[in-house]
Amino acid sequence: AQLDTLDIIVLAAILVGTVAYFTKGKYWGVTKDPYANAFSNANGLKAGKTRNIVEKMEESGKNCVIFYGSQTGTAEDYASRLAKEGKSRFGLETMVADLEDYDFDNLDEIPSDKLVMFVLATYGEGEPTDNAVDFYEFITGDDVSFSQGADPPLGNLNYVAFGLGNNTYEHYNSMVRNVNKALEKLGANRIGEAGEGDDGAGTMEEDFLAWKDPMWAALAEKMGLEEREAVYEPIFSIVEREGLTKDSHEVYLGEPNKMHLEGTAKGPFNAHNPYIAPIAESKELFSVKDRNCLHLEVDISGSNLSYQTGDHIAVWPTNAGQEVDQFLSILGLEDKKDTVISVKALEPTAKVPFPTPTTYDAIIRYHLEICAPVSRQFLGTLAAFAPNEATKAEMAKLGSDKDYFQDKISKNHYNIARTLSVVSNGQKWTNVPFSAFIEGLTKLQPRYYSISSSSLVQPKKISITAVVENQLIPGRADPFKGVATNYLLALKQKQNGDPNPEAFGLTYELNGPRNKYDGIHVPVHVRHSNFKLPSDPSKPIILIGPGTGVAPFRGFVQERAKQAESGENVGRTLLFFGCRKQNEDFMYKSEWEDYKNALGDKFELITAFSREGPKKVYVQHRLKERAQEVNELLEKKAYLYVCGDAANMAREVNTVLAQIISEQRGIPEAKAEEIVKNMRATNQYQEDVW
Ligand code: FAD
Repeated sequence: AQLDTLDIIVLAAILVGTVAYFTKGKYWGVTKDPYANAFSNANGLKAGKTRNIVEKMEESGKNCVIFYGSQTGTAEDYASRLAKEGKSRFGLETMVADLEDYDFDNLDEIPSDKLVMFVLATYGEGEPTDNAVDFYEFITGDDVSFSQGADPPLGNLNYVAFGLGNNTYEHYNSMVRNVNKALEKLGANRIGEAGEGDDGAGTMEEDFLAWKDPMWAALAEKMGLEEREAVYEPIFSIVEREGLTKDSHEVYLGEPNKMHLEGTAKGPFNAHNPYIAPIAESKELFSVKDRNCLHLEVDISGSNLSYQTGDHIAVWPTNAGQEVDQFLSILGLEDKKDTVISVKALEPTAKVPFPTPTTYDAIIRYHLEICAPVSRQFLGTLAAFAPNEATKAEMAKLGSDKDYFQDKISKNHYNIARTLSVVSNGQKWTNVPFSAFIEGLTKLQPRYYSISSSSLVQPKKISITAVVENQLIPGRADPFKGVATNYLLALKQKQNGDPNPEAFGLTYELNGPRNKYDGIHVPVHVRHSNFKLPSDPSKPIILIGPGTGVAPFRGFVQERAKQAESGENVGRTLLFFGCRKQNEDFMYKSEWEDYKNALGDKFELITAFSREGPKKVYVQHRLKERAQEVNELLEKKAYLYVCGDAANMAREVNTVLAQIISEQRGIPEAKAEEIVKNMRATNQYQEDVW
């Protein structure tokens, strides 16, 4: 029979549909740029991707998946390092996976010749990281059930676990501990010990390195793996795009995603998609020469962003020009800084951490933590590409000798470019595949700030209170300078009319990619927190926030002052604030007086100036002096809030609180400690510490 035109059209449509079906749409996300990676199109939306890990491992030929629960990028980084090492030393077919991207009810279908690794950071008050919340709830849930319903449910599952935590927090490494317990309960087989890294002691990297060697040994034995000579294999290919220049419209010059590139950025604004917010106002809060504390007002009225008093704002920083230049220079890339390149993952499960095509300059300036502490293991990897034998030997020594590394590199706060330069005596490192840096450095992370305004008072303007990180390092000529805070300082200088804005000699591309941040803009998003005022304003509150720890409490007190002015019944509000000297770093000094006028006796500011008297006085001392009143307020169910330094202050406040309760109520300390624990559990005692 003859086919008429309509038949042909129908058949063609069916054919197209069938191809689409069998290729799972793979050929349909066609983009103009054959080298473009998913990131540039996806903007966090991972259309058409499977959430079935068993299927994913099967189709990509993997036998080891490394899941990460990461908030600041470190856990993700460690996961990548494990993946690389597993592949290069043991020939494992590894893949790294974001916990958020998969479902877990078929973990029981992973066969026993495959392996699952978990690298899990604990965040804040013993919470899972944002991307691990669903997994955590699933695996530790009372009614967890799996597809096959075997007994024990995870009897086939072999796993490895490492946790990232901070011993200064109450719930140290609770994420990895609880997940480990849950997996054991479900019958899974752990290989090696569940490792724990401690950021509080500053030993995270060394804890990780010390954990992983015995883990690999146990793993090799259990799975019958043969170790081989590790050779570096790049994960990303870098292709120069001759037809493109940095002015080509499809080239990313630091824009975070495709919408930003095309000028169509819109919400939802989140950790994948910042809002380029105008800074409405900025000023200095300290009146002393060598220390700075910034107050910024970020205008979110042009966005659909909202916040609540006590939330956090994330600032997306830019690296300083001098740091970018030093990095380009030591790699011999100065002349290529604007060369357009496409970066492509050489295997399907790896993700390029920024959109491409782009330039070296944009990657280094906007996407990599080039100033962060250097990883000792990474130096070992780079040794192979050293410009001469002496440098190679030195790099190998740094990579393998913990104390030597500490003494030469860590102690001086050197970053990667500085390290390479010091070790090679300035000789250029032109042999390192650029992929190694994309793999070996963390992607540039947003920095969080406790919002220092009240959403009731200024719903569309977010205040930030940030102390500028500028530390003298013994034995090093120049001070160490933090990434985000110096960038913010330069923005403030520009806003206040400085024609050459800088921060301690550092300059920034304040106008952003393609001048998109001109007119004083900063990329931000908002992270909601559980650090919240009681819903009933008549409840008394006790606020303890020395230094920048006072940030959220400015918001709290601002809110209560407003409530009092509107005739609401506001409870007693005690604020313990501390700093060095009244006339140097007493932030918001005159504002507190305004709030006092609004709140009257309801508000009291209790100060501790540590460097004014013969003895150092801190907020915890003042708290103790007020033992009776503090206890009475707590008995009236006052909420107690602590913000700021996690390492010392928050801990001491906890101890002093138990002492106060014990003494005032005439009960043993152990009992008082129980009460304090219980206050935490019921949110009567909340912390926002870092
Ligand atoms: P970074 O460059 O990130 O350096 C920070 C620290 O890392 C340095 O001090 C140093 O100890 C270490 N470090 C970095 N590079 C190296 C290196 N090469 N070698 C050795 N050590 C290194 N801060 C505020 O001022 N106000 C707030 O209200 C506030 N709220 C916060 C709320 C939360 C929930 C969190 C998590 C943090 C908060 N912070 C706040 C801290 C803030 O997020 C930043 O960490 C801080 O501003 C420093 O950022 P930075 O980029 O300037 O410094």
